[in-house]
Amino acid sequence: MPTQPDFSISKEKMKNNKDISILIIYTGGTIGMVHDPVTGSLVPIDFRHISDHVPELKKFGYDLHSISFDPVQDSSNIDPVVWVKMAEIIEEGYKDFDGFVILHGTDTMAYTASALSFMLENLARPVILTGSQLPIGLLRTDGRENLITAIEIAAAQLNGMAEVPEVCIFFDNKLTRGNRTTKMSAEHFDAFYSPNYPPLAEVGLHLKYTNNLISYPAKDQKLIVHKAFDNNVAVLKLFPGINRKLFQAVLNTEGLRGLIIETFGSGNAPTYQWFLDDLTDYINKGGIILNVTQCHGGSVEMGLYETSRQMLSAGVVSGKDLTSEASVTKLMHLLGRYTSREEVVKSLNRSLSGEIS
Ligand code: ASP
Repeated sequence: MPTQPDFSISKEKMKNNKDISILIIYTGGTIGMVHDPVTGSLVPIDFRHISDHVPELKKFGYDLHSISFDPVQDSSNIDPVVWVKMAEIIEEGYKDFDGFVILHGTDTMAYTASALSFMLENLARPVILTGSQLPIGLLRTDGRENLITAIEIAAAQLNGMAEVPEVCIFFDNKLTRGNRTTKMSAEHFDAFYSPNYPPLAEVGLHLKYTNNLISYPAKDQKLIVHKAFDNNVAVLKLFPGINRKLFQAVLNTEGLRGLIIETFGSGNAPTYQWFLDDLTDYINKGGIILNVTQCHGGSVEMGLYETSRQMLSAGVVSGKDLTSEASVTKLMHLLGRYTSREEVVKSLNRSLSGEIS
């Protein structure tokens, strides 16, 4: 699906930082759209000509390269197969590039960022996802600023190492850890937020990194890329009045290995006897139930109320302060990685790449 690198900015430009090279991976999304001069509709740009739209790219003191998906993807179509392609591009370019910028539609950007954070173990290079609310071809686009600053962040060095060796989302002046981030607005430029972990950097006149929040890998660890996902999972948002037929239909889905229940408040659910019986039965048969809150911030605390204590006794796993995006991708990743239920549960309970507190 991805094509070969199709543009590079000439090496003569590398005056000050000639050792820094960045790979821009263009997957699609609004950021790459311009008006077709004939029809007037929005169409994807030919990424080879990105510097016509963002001439500032020619001024960078870095060696910039790009690779474009062909065809480009609206992010609603991005799935584990595409995550693997992205991870493979990073794996192949890992020795040659100091950082990676992924241009991605905003709709599922937080899923991709979470998935990549679990796939790329021992990551020592920045992987910065960005996109825009308005196409790069429009005068008021937010894409230009987002792209330029994402490149700056991907290139930033501290004591000869990457300043932010994490999978992050940069959007509207905020750099947040990818697996902590969620899309909150379909309209505002400030489209993403990280409810339970502070931004890793704030951008104003200066790029201010909060280094004690950034995770740095131990030295000389080899990058390990986990490529297996199991999508035999489901997400069920509880609501007052939920009925047993629906709950059983979900639990009886053929091949289902894990169910995420989005619960109320700090992880609470109805104490209906049928609800507890059905989930206990499912767990006893080897299924996994992960409890995440449907609140937009805060954490599951099982046992705090009676309405979650019984789920704890039944073997429901606490998702703690996982975002919805991180919970789905973490579960799919762990089910792909381990066959043993115990291993999956053990890893759900610990932080793999900073996704839980
Ligand atoms: N539908 C687009 C996408 O996610 C929206 C965007 O880029 O913001 O690919």
